[in-house]
Amino acid sequence: MSLQIYISGKLYNKEDAKISVYDHGLLYGDGVFEGMRSYNGKVFRHREHLERLWKSARAIMLEIPISMDEMEKAVNDTLAANNISDGYIRLVVTRGAGSLGLDPNRTQNPQVIIITDKISLYPDEYYENGLEIVTVSTIRNHPAALSPRVKSLNYLNNIMAKIEGLQAGCEEALMLNHNGEVAECTGDNIFIVRNGELLTPPIDAGILEGITRQAVIDLAREAEITVREIALTRHDIFTADECFLTGSAAEVVPVVKLDRRVIGDGKPGPITRKLKDRFHEYTRS
Ligand code: PMP
Repeated sequence: MSLQIYISGKLYNKEDAKISVYDHGLLYGDGVFEGMRSYNGKVFRHREHLERLWKSARAIMLEIPISMDEMEKAVNDTLAANNISDGYIRLVVTRGAGSLGLDPNRTQNPQVIIITDKISLYPDEYYENGLEIVTVSTIRNHPAALSPRVKSLNYLNNIMAKIEGLQAGCEEALMLNHNGEVAECTGDNIFIVRNGELLTPPIDAGILEGITRQAVIDLAREAEITVREIALTRHDIFTADECFLTGSAAEVVPVVKLDRRVIGDGKPGPITRKLKDRFHEYTRS
């Protein structure tokens, strides 16, 4: 059977799942989204993702046409309809179809789209040996232009950085903010370990408040590892003992090189491995 896609209250075969070319989500990237994981049939930190989606929508003055409870049920029902227990979920809310002008008041019927699919993971090698990343010259959106806290359908800032990273042969790329501080990667948050402490840029460094980031902070604190959210520069990463990235798809992935410079001893470090394993257990328990 074909994959079933939810669009605004109904399930469609993948081939028939379509929305209007006049939708402002397509015309202007006017909308918001979430990327979530399910483990053993249960969505990981489902409510937190929905709360972030609702905050993103609120920030762009988009009213989601269903309630949070209805959305939660729609996601669970779509997973069940596709018989997916371990998968990836893409939740999209668009501004809806309108006229060929920016004015969001000229749109109708925001569309809610739920795609549940198999997860495409980084190769095992990255988890065992670590990832190599580069700093790109595309800076993260200035928070006063479009806040990185909004997970909007306009992801070109990240895509431009991703292109630069790929051109340099790297799967992930480090983005700095307008102050030259470390912000995050194109689709993942970043952490370093220094003298046994876990350090990560604060939200006001211009980053997305990653759900995995928060889960890892919680797990580290439970393990009595000190966690500090402080401004970091490339210098801090070059001189760190360990470095890793977090994201719903990537989970916890070690980073062993930045800009061709070896971090620590060039291997995934002990705290990174511990948190990676704890996260793995936590999500599968
Ligand atoms: N930063 C950006 C820019 C992202 O798009 C994402 C999600 N892919 C993340 C960080 C990680 O967030 P989460 O842990 O909620 O997936």
